[in-house]
Amino acid sequence: MYDVNSKHADDFINHEEILETLAYADENKDNLELIEKLIEKAALRKGLSHREASVLLACSDAGMNEKIFKLAEQIKKDFYGNRIVMFAPLYLSNYCINGCTYCPYHAKNKHIARKQLSQEEIRREVIALQDMGHKRLALEAGEHPALNTMDYYLKSIETIYSIKHKNGAIRRVNINIAATTVDNYRLLKEAGIGTYILFQETYHKEGYKELHPTGPKSDYNYHTEAMDRAMEGGIDDVGVGVLFGLDKYRYEFAGLLMHAEHLEAAFGVGPHTISVPRLRDADDIDSSAFKNGIDDDTFAKIVACIRIAVPYTGMIISTRESQKVRERVLHLGISQISGGSRTSVGGYCEPEPEDEKSEQFDVIDSRTLDEVVHWLMQMNYIPSFCTACYREGRTGDRFMSLCKSGQIQNCCHPNALMTLQEYLMDYASPETKALGSKLIDKEIQNVPNAKARSVVTENLRLIRENNRRDFRF
Ligand code: SAM
Repeated sequence: MYDVNSKHADDFINHEEILETLAYADENKDNLELIEKLIEKAALRKGLSHREASVLLACSDAGMNEKIFKLAEQIKKDFYGNRIVMFAPLYLSNYCINGCTYCPYHAKNKHIARKQLSQEEIRREVIALQDMGHKRLALEAGEHPALNTMDYYLKSIETIYSIKHKNGAIRRVNINIAATTVDNYRLLKEAGIGTYILFQETYHKEGYKELHPTGPKSDYNYHTEAMDRAMEGGIDDVGVGVLFGLDKYRYEFAGLLMHAEHLEAAFGVGPHTISVPRLRDADDIDSSAFKNGIDDDTFAKIVACIRIAVPYTGMIISTRESQKVRERVLHLGISQISGGSRTSVGGYCEPEPEDEKSEQFDVIDSRTLDEVVHWLMQMNYIPSFCTACYREGRTGDRFMSLCKSGQIQNCCHPNALMTLQEYLMDYASPETKALGSKLIDKEIQNVPNAKARSVVTENLRLIRENNRRDFRF
């Protein structure tokens, strides 16, 4: 039975409730009066329920859709300003004992090169990432309890935080690894991770079983209840997502929002981020063999509807998407993007030889970080390398309440400018530096109060003189 507070996956992601939600959305997708009311409700910026948001997703009326897109853009501006947080994935290992049918790391794939980075190799990768300008990483790995152990992850996190190369530092390590125990989540928290990320892949239990025929990940309930265990283990920033293309997108959308509602109801804080990956071709994976792929228009609609349903949850897009698609959805609600990414194990310091490829999927946006930063600034976005919130203890419900009240802007905007200035000084090409300096000079005027403005101005001067401290609000 559907119960948002229950700790059981079958209750909080209840199949019947999703079917009823989809039926309700179908019945009302042309009910313009109701849709108008839902858009008005969403405009209050307090979010929508999975049922309400599903009606908006199902609506095909051009005029209403225009209003939905417009509102998503406005909410995005109100909550996130013009800042976009930058990050990069770091693949630690592609050893995996699971049988996921869409992922080339599946255990039966005998021709993909299998690799696990040693601590020395991690050092080299992190230095390469620092030299690009990255400050925030998302660690990635397959599931292999004998090789990718918790000890290995903890050691790797310690190594990453310890490396200070030139002015570089990785200041926030997020981690995307297989579902694990409360005790292990506690250890990850103690090691100083930022967000624990785990994609549900699909909320459709029957579909999930077919897509995950073997290995520990085949246990749907254990996987779906992972965020509850992570929160019990003290991790209050969790990142959820589905892999669009595996099952029907409307089902996934309702499931995703129900998951967010459950975390909010059970722990007082919803997910910190929602990722929206789409299935891609990979080593022995042909994405066209999966029948639930979604086109770019549907993808944009999903992003817009997530934005208005959970306004204060960050939204992440990776280099699985092209520059064109990324540009479109940035306006509609994305707040974090990766840049200069490699999805291979060890691809940052030197390219992998042709016969030793280990990558997880084809990167579509293969521009360098400098190119991505330049492109963002041309569109008047501020690329932000800020990691201050979690280091200042602004996580979980503390972060959410600042976010909901809009106060978070007082920290985010100054921090974005100062970290961008650091990036420009240390890593940018001359063209990017020139463009960025102009943008910063203009954006200082938008720092909310006079006192903060003068502190930021002084800090920017110090950064420009290479007189560094860990400046942050
Ligand atoms: N081992 C972790 C787990 O059990 O969830 C996941 C880490 S995996 C490196 C990160 C994510 O890549 C997966 O959760 C999946 O959604 C995504 N992924 C796998 N195969 C993909 C493909 N062919 N195209 C796009 N994304 C893919």
